[in-house]
Amino acid sequence: MTKKNLDWKNIGFQYHETDKRYIANYKDGSWGEGQLISDPNIVINESAGVLQYCQQVFEGLKAYTAKDGSIVTFRPDLNAERMVQSAKGLRIPPFPEERFLEAVDQVVEANQDWVPPYGTGASLYLRPYIFASTPVIGIKPATEYQFRLYSTPVGPYFKGGAKPITLTVSEYDRAAPKGTGHLKAGLNYAMSLNTTVKAHEDGFDENLFLDAATRSYIEESGGANIILITDDNKLVTPKSNSILPSITKRSIIYLAKNYLDLEVIERKVRFEELEDFTEAGLCGTAAVISPIGKVVNGQEEVEFSNGMNNVGPVIKKIYEILTKMQLGVIEAPEGWIRKIK
Ligand SMILES: *Cc1c(COP(=O)(O)O)cnc(C)c1O
Repeated sequence: MTKKNLDWKNIGFQYHETDKRYIANYKDGSWGEGQLISDPNIVINESAGVLQYCQQVFEGLKAYTAKDGSIVTFRPDLNAERMVQSAKGLRIPPFPEERFLEAVDQVVEANQDWVPPYGTGASLYLRPYIFASTPVIGIKPATEYQFRLYSTPVGPYFKGGAKPITLTVSEYDRAAPKGTGHLKAGLNYAMSLNTTVKAHEDGFDENLFLDAATRSYIEESGGANIILITDDNKLVTPKSNSILPSITKRSIIYLAKNYLDLEVIERKVRFEELEDFTEAGLCGTAAVISPIGKVVNGQEEVEFSNGMNNVGPVIKKIYEILTKMQLGVIEAPEGWIRKIK
């Protein structure tokens, strides 16, 4: 094994082509045998379902070099399971969960030279997805699909470490109450690009989306869930059918209850209530947890008590425990770490 010669600490969050990717094709009503291939390009028909009607679902997870030198992934079984749910929602044939895990193992093992070394803060990001590959022109599901899983080494999502970020309330909605917000699908991101670019142009880090029906409850950002901390040891997180069920958030809830003795409450949270919380964070695989310094809604500003310069003590603690578990520095709950090598 010879690690690739990359500047691991400065690779950023962008696509690097790695050696191998896994593919399996769905045809005649079943998933065929999978294989590792070298070609990063895909040739599909100009009228493929993914190109015309965005029939696609995806996942995102990471492989890490643990402290003892082994290569591990974090709760990939939950990604496998969530992808089944996402696929069902878009009439895509689900990829079997066991096979998803085998694909993860195979891709990581085949690209082990690309897994960043321990201590660099970087990891190998894995992107499994399924897309409709055969032509459609009338509006209907395609007949054939491809499951593909590629990998790319990534640095920390926010360069410069866990610095508090600023959110702005988006004037657009992310997800309808009975729409596709709870599914991990590219289509939810396509519609978020306009408002995300606008937020960045206006100097904000991310959008905060409100519930589409009443625009009075907070939901999540474009790609991460939100957690809120009170000064009397409660962790509150918004409850809504249009929020994507984050695996990072589910893990944080478990840690909050079992390691930090916080009371966890999932409920609807009104925008006006934000000022009652002392700390807030965005959570997702890409950044693990990003402390929120303030939220801006037009003329209105809510700044959390640790401000823009400090990370609050509870968020900091959660971040430390979770990242130490992912890197095998402290033991994780049973079944959370899948050792690959
Ligand atoms: C992927 C995603 C998240 C984060 O989920 P994790 O499983 O924690 O990575 C949150 N919100 C949206 C919209 C997402 O697509």
